[in-house]
Amino acid sequence: MPPTTPVKRKRGEGQWKLGHREPLNPNERTKKDDDGLNVRARIETIYAERGFDSIDPADLRGRMRWWGLYTQRRPGIEGGRTAVLEPEELDDRYFMLRVRIDGGALTTEQLRTLGEISQSYARDTADITDRQNIQYHWIEIESMPAIWKRLESVGLMTTEACGDTPRVILGSPVAGISAEELIDPRPAIDAIVERYVGNPAFSNLPRKFKSAISWQQDVAHEVNDISFIGVVHPEHGPGFDLWVGGGLSTNPRIAQRLGVWVPLEEVPDVWEGVVSIFRDYGYRRLRHRARLKFLVADWGVAKFRQVLEDEYLGRELIDGPAPEVPERPIDHVGVHKQKDGRNYIGVAPSSGRVSGTTLVQLADIVEAAGSRRVRLTPQQKIVVLDVPDRTVDRLVTELNKLGLPADPSPWRRSTMACTGIEFCKLAIVETKERAIRLVEDLEKRLADVSPDVPISIHLNGCPNSCARTQVADIGLKGQIVTTADGEQVEGFQVHLGGGLGLDAGFGRKLRGLKVTSAELGDYVERVVRNFVEQRTEGERFAQ
Ligand code: SF4
Repeated sequence: MPPTTPVKRKRGEGQWKLGHREPLNPNERTKKDDDGLNVRARIETIYAERGFDSIDPADLRGRMRWWGLYTQRRPGIEGGRTAVLEPEELDDRYFMLRVRIDGGALTTEQLRTLGEISQSYARDTADITDRQNIQYHWIEIESMPAIWKRLESVGLMTTEACGDTPRVILGSPVAGISAEELIDPRPAIDAIVERYVGNPAFSNLPRKFKSAISWQQDVAHEVNDISFIGVVHPEHGPGFDLWVGGGLSTNPRIAQRLGVWVPLEEVPDVWEGVVSIFRDYGYRRLRHRARLKFLVADWGVAKFRQVLEDEYLGRELIDGPAPEVPERPIDHVGVHKQKDGRNYIGVAPSSGRVSGTTLVQLADIVEAAGSRRVRLTPQQKIVVLDVPDRTVDRLVTELNKLGLPADPSPWRRSTMACTGIEFCKLAIVETKERAIRLVEDLEKRLADVSPDVPISIHLNGCPNSCARTQVADIGLKGQIVTTADGEQVEGFQVHLGGGLGLDAGFGRKLRGLKVTSAELGDYVERVVRNFVEQRTEGERFAQ
């Protein structure tokens, strides 16, 4: 008998539906060993009592995320050492805590509570993230029972704010008040949170699952795992267009339309169908391929829709049209009329950085102006709703005094930054304070320039792109760069000309286009002046 060539078996991707139930990597093992949702009981009864050193390492670096907790970076570790150190060497004894705020919607009572928690337990830190969360730092494990008690007393939570779970749902900051809106999508967001967040049926996904639901295109829907965006069907009327498989990080992908129209009341069921596909068919072997975008890319939208209809919904979806793309990005900054005649005021903290004290003071001045509602935005901004005409001017002045201008410079308005090396264990460079200083610098350097199109600048501390590197006009990805003198310093790889909306696509990563942090102001000034001088009429930066 001639020798036979052994048949090379294709390795599976760890998809549950295809029978791969045995964990294929340590993250999957941790999740199989115990549901991340169960860690809260241990925090409350053991870890908060006995302190940091009592925490099981699998909880510390894994399951605590299911309740919004990550250890923060130990201060003083340089970015060049991030990749070579063991996780325990990077861990501080303090935590970052994320509070999920679905749709970004807060009452002033909730806002004040968020501020007071920061003052009491988080050294007055508070950042508004580009997913409409509030993020604290310097949290001690001993404080968590009291923090949850305070949050839950006003209807807020940290449940599945991080981890391999359905994360916070992005929603329009002007949902329910905008004159353009034909359906208010908040009932769908509320129903999804009520039914599925903290539900063990969806607490072990292959990785995180990001959602966005809005009538308007103001929630970066192109880079979420699932998005529902408002559209009018010629026969059925207002409803939502379904997008799946977007995401950034090191393998960015723009979401794709399934070509279906979903009425408001069916949004939660369709959401459940898509997240179930992700849970059952999502790749679990390799962590970096475990996002929905890889499955969508491999299947294509036709197969994805078919599986959704046949295996999860048991019915056909209705074909639907694409929504019209707005001419400009929508950020809600400034004073605008609501449909009820009152006003909403969008203001710009620099790069989303505020403080507990600012949040408490904000709640006070908003209430004094006759409003009880604010919203956070996916652009790290704040919108105050329901302001009567008679108090608009006074409130704008007071907001300005608080460092929250309603008429910010174009640079402040369009700059975002991720957490960066100050607190993030994956970071290579500093971002938040650098972005704030860059904005101040650009306000002086470019005082004579007022572009009539927005030019977005997004600073990220590493390739993970939490502040959306690839879809900025000027996207900055932190890395160590070498100066002309051969010195290794903090700097950025530049991605130019990315965008969402009309210009949805990724910035060009020009070979060798890297700037040191010290050169950043010079570089951005040069790029902006070149654009403004050479621009043809109507041209946008990304064109
Ligand atoms: Fe951390 Fe990198 Fe995300 Fe910035 S982009 S918050 S450095 S993981």
